[in-house]
Amino acid sequence: MTQRTNVVVIGGGQAGLAAGYHLRRLGIEFVVLDAQPAPGGAWQHAWDSLRLFSPAAYSSLPGRLMPAQEGQTCPDAAHVVAYLADYEKRHELPAQHGVFVDTVHDDGMVLRVETDSGTWRARTVVSATGTWTRPFVPAVEGRREFPGRQLHTVQYKDPSEFAGQRVVGVGGGNPGAQIAADLTGHAQVTWPTQRPPRYLHDDIDGRALDEGRADPGGVASLGDIVAVPPVRAARDTGLLAARPMFTRLTATGVEWADGSRQDADAVTWCTGFRPALAHLAGLRLRGVRGHIATVGTRAADDPRLHFLGYDDWTGLAATLIGVGRTAREAAREIRDLLA
Ligand code: FAD
Repeated sequence: MTQRTNVVVIGGGQAGLAAGYHLRRLGIEFVVLDAQPAPGGAWQHAWDSLRLFSPAAYSSLPGRLMPAQEGQTCPDAAHVVAYLADYEKRHELPAQHGVFVDTVHDDGMVLRVETDSGTWRARTVVSATGTWTRPFVPAVEGRREFPGRQLHTVQYKDPSEFAGQRVVGVGGGNPGAQIAADLTGHAQVTWPTQRPPRYLHDDIDGRALDEGRADPGGVASLGDIVAVPPVRAARDTGLLAARPMFTRLTATGVEWADGSRQDADAVTWCTGFRPALAHLAGLRLRGVRGHIATVGTRAADDPRLHFLGYDDWTGLAATLIGVGRTAREAAREIRDLLA
């Protein structure tokens, strides 16, 4: 069955919901199609100890303040999931969960959105599919040789499964620092980073990222490290000390630049993400360097297509508080186009 609407928003995480909020305010007909069976986007899959790097009041989408979480200055991921579920309900956003968008085709006047549960024909599309489903691991020599466990940020859950192990925790962004800190006390942690880690001043939390006061450092790397309490504690006790990246993995661990070797049981790759854009391949928008050119949130070569979220690619930092402003601009442009 084919259904019609003005806008299909692909992805029902915070970016998709912020788009929905502003589209609704402008009286534009839309639907949100989200692959997750329940609201909350990527926050549903975060590791157990993850805390927001800002207090609740500074982590809100437009139109509803995130309530504080009892006993926590910076809420945990479950609190964010509950907030997003409540947000979707209160604003009566027409989100369909458990719907995976396979492809978007250009049918001339409309964009045809093919999903695993039917087809939509839309005049415009907002892609808000995030990065969590596209973890990035660099091509490091010896990766196949190393017999120990290798996992990305997206697979990390709890330090207890590494108890007593020698873990090499790669990555100098916020996830890298937080997971390395989480592991200290349970495992023997070595923390190699591509460049020396840059901490935001201890008094500064994630608000600095939203206000553009900190360099976000590329797609979803979340750049400068917010010294959240567990990171600060591990750093100050000397348990979290970065060292330059190893040169290769070996059959027993890692090899450092000076040729010395270190045994390891596991390697955690907190090495970032890429935008999840496979559903747009059929539109052939990728340019020479594999990037889709954009003007603000809009695809430079197709004004019917907008991108929201994806770190700072198409607007302000795609944090909870940052994405609302970018979503408002996108919704206004869509209104003008539809008119
Ligand atoms: P997502 O939450 O990933 O939502 C995208 C949705 O699209 C998902 O539900 C996904 O299933 C769906 N989807 C994907 N492909 C398809 C498809 N083909 N068809 C249908 N649906 C699809 N921000 C803050 O403000 N504060 C923080 O403290 C903070 N901490 C972070 C910590 C980590 C480790 C990371 C990685 C990010 C953090 N961020 C933080 C940044 C940002 O807020 C989150 O990354 C957030 O989840 C991004 O939301 P999103 O809506 O763009 O993407």
